[in-house]
Amino acid sequence: MNALDFSGGLTLARNVRMTRLLRHSSSRVAVLASALTLAVMPTWAQTPIERHSNSYTPEQDVQLGQQAAAEVRQQMPMLNDERIEDYVERIGERLVREIPDEWEQPAFRYSFDVVNLKEINAFALPGGPMFLHRGMIEAARTEAEVAGVMAHELSHVILRHGTVQATKGQKFQIGAVAGQILGAIVGGTAGDVIAQGSQFGLGAYFLKYSREYEREADLFGAQIMARAGYDPRQMANMFQTIAREGGGRGPEWLSSHPDPGNRYEMINREAEMLEIDGNAGSGAEFSNVKSRLAQMSPAPTSEQVARARQSGQRVPAGNTGGAARVEPPSNQWRTYQPGNFLRLNVPANWEQIGGGNTVRYAPEGGFFQAQSGQSSFTHGMELGVIDGDGASLQQATERLLQSFARTNPQLRRQGGYSRANIGGRQGLTTNLTNVSDVTGQREVVNVSTVQLRDGSVLFLIGVAPQSESRAYFNTFNRIRQSIQLADNR
Ligand SMILES: [Zn+2]
Repeated sequence: MNALDFSGGLTLARNVRMTRLLRHSSSRVAVLASALTLAVMPTWAQTPIERHSNSYTPEQDVQLGQQAAAEVRQQMPMLNDERIEDYVERIGERLVREIPDEWEQPAFRYSFDVVNLKEINAFALPGGPMFLHRGMIEAARTEAEVAGVMAHELSHVILRHGTVQATKGQKFQIGAVAGQILGAIVGGTAGDVIAQGSQFGLGAYFLKYSREYEREADLFGAQIMARAGYDPRQMANMFQTIAREGGGRGPEWLSSHPDPGNRYEMINREAEMLEIDGNAGSGAEFSNVKSRLAQMSPAPTSEQVARARQSGQRVPAGNTGGAARVEPPSNQWRTYQPGNFLRLNVPANWEQIGGGNTVRYAPEGGFFQAQSGQSSFTHGMELGVIDGDGASLQQATERLLQSFARTNPQLRRQGGYSRANIGGRQGLTTNLTNVSDVTGQREVVNVSTVQLRDGSVLFLIGVAPQSESRAYFNTFNRIRQSIQLADNR
């Protein structure tokens, strides 16, 4: 079920935004505090990084990278898990903020995605897009280890190693280079991918860096890490893990990021010269991410993906494959007050996900954020408020269903409306079926609406796979019965 973003001056929305503002201001306090720390610190020594000649413009880096990234997102199985993507994005943004002024590239567009593949790997494309394999996060022992790989990848982007290498080598037309990158990552036909020992293009000319650039990315990455509050020694530790865990199949990451020689010692030596500005990385958040990954079905290998592609199957894709195990609704309940006029109880194993003009409650694994920014959920309930525009409750509900049908073309009604008591008022409820855009399976949808005092309409949309409809319909009923409205002013 695709969730909609309703724009209308809604009490509920205003409240969601309030919460965000509060959260924002507290994080600013933290930033101020660390700026003060920085001010009293001595200037730290670090290995200077030299600038290489590059016959491409930064804008061409961006163009190349964006083209290739679009293909990667289409061809590779993406994890599509909002919470994990958010987490990785926060680490990435923390690192990007610490790029030294003299190296900043205003044209660059940084992004951070997680690929649902088992191999311990990561790669970054010219101009900003970075992709982290799920296997890399699973192999890391701390957030700083993840940050270490990301700081290294980010350094290749900032130092523009891809186009620097292309400048030194054969001159490519931009279009041709884009094809090279894509071919390198995706690995040509499925058969080729398997023949190459299940690597997504790590024999790439464009993404396989020389030892000189590896050394630079290690040093520059260590410097950025320290500025961002991470211990660069953790990057050295992660590289050891990568070398060890590559096992018999050969560590994919190392084949494109070769050891420049004494890598571990070199990074540790650099770390000794650096002041670590703060203490970034919450252990609790990192272990949440790890346990969330552990609850999903295991990531496929590149080879499994290539075989599936070859035989015309859908590529198994993280949450998008509907692979996550979703716990049934808990018998325990938790009370929420998402807006100042609304209280409700939801199963204790559902979480509130705020955003846009709606609020959602979903169990772990039941909610997804697509690349497009559009969100979907397979289990749970969404609440929001739409303008009544003077219409009757039934007319307003019809409009709501029509707007849902536009983004969910398989949405079908199952009978008419029933009356339902919602917060002591007479509301409406109706059931529909849909085909999930996430799992491709049939799902049930329960929509309930009730008019608020100001003429607007509160809606509740419950979604669950058809195979679990009985348990979820009970839950949707109980949530509806728990609603308390306080919009009498
Ligand atoms: Zn590298």
